[in-house]
Amino acid sequence: MNTFILGNPGKCIGCKACEIACSVAHLDTSVVKANEMNLPFISRLNLVRTSSVTMPIQCRQCEDAPCANVCSVGAIVHKDNCNVVLEEKCIGCKECMLACPFGMIDMQPKFTEGEAEFQVGLKVESLQGEQKKAYVVMQKCDLCKGRANGPACIEVCPADAFVIVNPDFIRKNIHDKRVSSAQEIAKRKYTGNS
Ligand code: SF4
Ligand code: SF4
Repeated sequence: MNTFILGNPGKCIGCKACEIACSVAHLDTSVVKANEMNLPFISRLNLVRTSSVTMPIQCRQCEDAPCANVCSVGAIVHKDNCNVVLEEKCIGCKECMLACPFGMIDMQPKFTEGEAEFQVGLKVESLQGEQKKAYVVMQKCDLCKGRANGPACIEVCPADAFVIVNPDFIRKNIHDKRVSSAQEIAKRKYTGNS
């Protein structure tokens, strides 16, 4: 089963530390250099705020992933219990973005070692004249694979509002539910409550 990260709306205080940490974790250069170069800070999770809820939302790493199923160039693959984007294959067609039931896919400019990449064949008109067109690709939560301290959002959250849902978590969750069912049934049987 794929691993994914789930935010808890009952704990989240809406401080946005997770969004900032996610952006910094994917900068591909230092924060200082990013500031100097005016690089955009792009988060792969999204803090949702409504009148009734504050909750971080990110990719659920679906088992039967709609994004991977619609991708016509095979740019989304399964690797290490996670759905991974092969940026070099992505052509920015946006089918995955429309297919995602959680709205957790964004199309973002691609940077390599802090440098923006541009398309070979297309230009855009601007007030400054004809400019190179940015190379835009699909981006989503990658569980911070390869990061020494694991997912940055979990590391910084002051409210302990995330849980990693992996096979161990599921097994414990199911076990706890079974124990509590047994206790409830035993209580009803011996006290006569229904
Ligand atoms: S860091 Fe934690 S408390 Fe702050 S917005 Fe993110 S989930 Fe909510
Ligand atoms: S696990 Fe990493 S990539 Fe995914 S939302 Fe958290 S910080 Fe962003």
